[in-house]
Amino acid sequence: MTQRTDVVVVGGGQAGLAAGYHLRRQGLDFVILDAEAAPGGSWQHMWDSLHLFSPAAHSSLPGRLMPAQGGETYPGAGHVVDYLTDYEKRYDLPVQHGTRVDAVRRDADRLLVEADSGTWRARAVISATGNWSRPFLPAVPGRSTFTGRQLHTVNYRCPADFADQRVVVVGGGNSGAQIAADLALDGRVQVTWVTQRPPRFLPDDIDGRALFDVATARRRALDAGRNDTGGVASLGDIVAVPPVRAARDAGLLTAKPMFTQLTAAGVRWADGSQSDADAIVWCTGFRPALAHLAPLNLRGPRGHIPTDGTRALGEPRLHLLGYGDWTGPASATLIGVGRPARDAAREVAGLLT
Ligand code: FAD
Repeated sequence: MTQRTDVVVVGGGQAGLAAGYHLRRQGLDFVILDAEAAPGGSWQHMWDSLHLFSPAAHSSLPGRLMPAQGGETYPGAGHVVDYLTDYEKRYDLPVQHGTRVDAVRRDADRLLVEADSGTWRARAVISATGNWSRPFLPAVPGRSTFTGRQLHTVNYRCPADFADQRVVVVGGGNSGAQIAADLALDGRVQVTWVTQRPPRFLPDDIDGRALFDVATARRRALDAGRNDTGGVASLGDIVAVPPVRAARDAGLLTAKPMFTQLTAAGVRWADGSQSDADAIVWCTGFRPALAHLAPLNLRGPRGHIPTDGTRALGEPRLHLLGYGDWTGPASATLIGVGRPARDAAREVAGLLT
């Protein structure tokens, strides 16, 4: 059966909920289709010890401050899930969980949204499917010959899974540093941390609060035709959250340059020497989950869809939200997604009226 609505939001993580909040304020009829069975988006799948890099009050969606988590300056992922669950309920957002969208197509003056549980004819679509479902693994020689365990950030849970093992953690970003620290501080795991370039820690007094301001300042500079400030990347790659700081200060977080290939038993280094390993954890990032938009034929370079703000350049009825700085400064963060969500909802409302 085909249902009709003004707007379909695809994805019910933080970005989809922020879109819902602002669509409601615009008085539009909408539905949020989310593949997850329960609220919380990808926060439900983060590793056990993960904590935010900003305090609760600086990790809030529009309209409702995230409450502090007792005893924690930086809330854990479970606290974020609770917050998003409450947010969804409090604003009575029409989220249909357990609904995966397979395709969005043009259908005359409407967009047809095809999901596993039905089809929607919408006047506009906001895509907010995040990156978590598209883990990226680099092409490294010998990857298929390694006989140990290989996993990506999305599959990592806790050090106990690697007790008494030799683990190589690959990646110089936040996930790599935090997982290497998590394993190293446990004491039972022999960790080798590998990065493509020397790790760049942000100054210890800078946490996620500053990142939003820096990303916004960069966007403003670019929009005004001024020089690129370099944004967050100019400060460093790794937020020195407490466990990362503790591991680094204890000398447990010293990175080695990237190995040249994987062997059956481990890794081979640039000087030809080899190290055995039981597991490789690839903390090598993500790509945007945009497969459902393929029928619209909008992909540009690097797999992104070219946008003006959040609006797809090739399809004005489509907005992209929460995927990263290319869809709004810091839009892939809790605090950062509110503004682009507001702008997207306003633009959609303008288009429909
Ligand atoms: P998601 O949370 O991934 O939600 C997308 C939703 O869309 C999911 O429920 C998914 O199931 C659904 N979906 C996907 N495809 C489809 C489809 N085809 N049909 C229907 N539904 C679909 N941000 C911060 O602000 N502070 C932090 O401290 C922080 N730490 C982070 C640590 C890590 C390790 C990572 C990876 C990210 C971190 N982030 C942090 C960044 C960011 O907040 C998260 O990535 C956030 O989850 C992105 O929200 P989202 O709604 O865009 O995507």
